Amino acid sequence: MPVRENSLDRYTRQMRYAPLGEDGQRQLLKSRALICGCGALGSVLANTLARAGVGFLRIVDRDFLEKNNLQRQVLFDEEDVSSGVPKAVAAARRLRKINSEIEIEEHVTDVDHTNIESLINGCNILLDGTDNFETRYLLNDASVKFGIPWVYGGCLGAEGKSMTILPGETPCMRCVFEDAPPPGTTATCDSAGILSPIINVIASIQANEAIKILSGNRDAISRVLSVFELWDNRILQVKLDSLKDHTDCPACHQRVFPWLDGERGSHTAILCGRNSVQLSYPDRQNVCLESLAKKLATVGTVTQNRFLLRLQVNEFLITVFSDGRAIVGGTEDISEARTLYTKYIGN
Ligand SMILES: [Zn+2]
Repeated sequence: MPVRENSLDRYTRQMRYAPLGEDGQRQLLKSRALICGCGALGSVLANTLARAGVGFLRIVDRDFLEKNNLQRQVLFDEEDVSSGVPKAVAAARRLRKINSEIEIEEHVTDVDHTNIESLINGCNILLDGTDNFETRYLLNDASVKFGIPWVYGGCLGAEGKSMTILPGETPCMRCVFEDAPPPGTTATCDSAGILSPIINVIASIQANEAIKILSGNRDAISRVLSVFELWDNRILQVKLDSLKDHTDCPACHQRVFPWLDGERGSHTAILCGRNSVQLSYPDRQNVCLESLAKKLATVGTVTQNRFLLRLQVNEFLITVFSDGRAIVGGTEDISEARTLYTKYIGN
């Protein structure tokens, strides 16, 4: 998109910051960012980068809103919850009101090895707004393989971590943590809770790193793993210099990308803090929500919009997206969720 001269006016305060300047602003306006996940971190990332004038934001999220998201997911309001729209759609609507001069592209989908290459296509940076290690290792694989910087962020309780990865220049996630922790072995925001301020701290650091990279100020990026604990007032910066020539790294040095190749990772996931299971069927395309609604009318309470259908039956809330994905609420048991899906939605 060509930069219109008058469109620079809104950025005067940040252009006045010398290390960014007008040249940096013009770079931002020409830049393209993928925001992977638009919940807590993703909301702050998208809000900050839209206001800063990153010219193109691709927002990807698999989920819809629940009332308990509003405590920390700052792009959304009560109307978004009651209207039942997916987060990516609600986020894009809000972002277009915030900055109508940039391009926003929303995707309601789960990021996995089948779609990540098309989602990162054309992007200059990948930003982690996810809540799970599987997607982060997939992002890391894609980043290293295709040489696109990414910025990790993760929060739990009052603690958060952030790290910037410039492929070929700084250690990658697998240089630091070679493997993802097995599912179920780490605390989640369900068990440990989450305070909103740490989200804002970590996502702001991520957004700031993005602004540095996209404006051509790579020298200014953080080359440490930063850890903030806001309740006990601790800040830790872990030096990564010794890992720079980490010749064992399966990603950086051996060029092995199991998450990207689909050998690691699954389509089925217990959703963090939701008492819900996501079921994904990559072969299934474009479910007709209208005919499904008719079929289910006698089974339970059905509500539907353009993006999804919801079936409340007994204590379970089954949400089906038009791409065939489903989120089964009321259980964290994957086999129970699969059984419910087969019973009500079909094979
Ligand atoms: Zn590495």
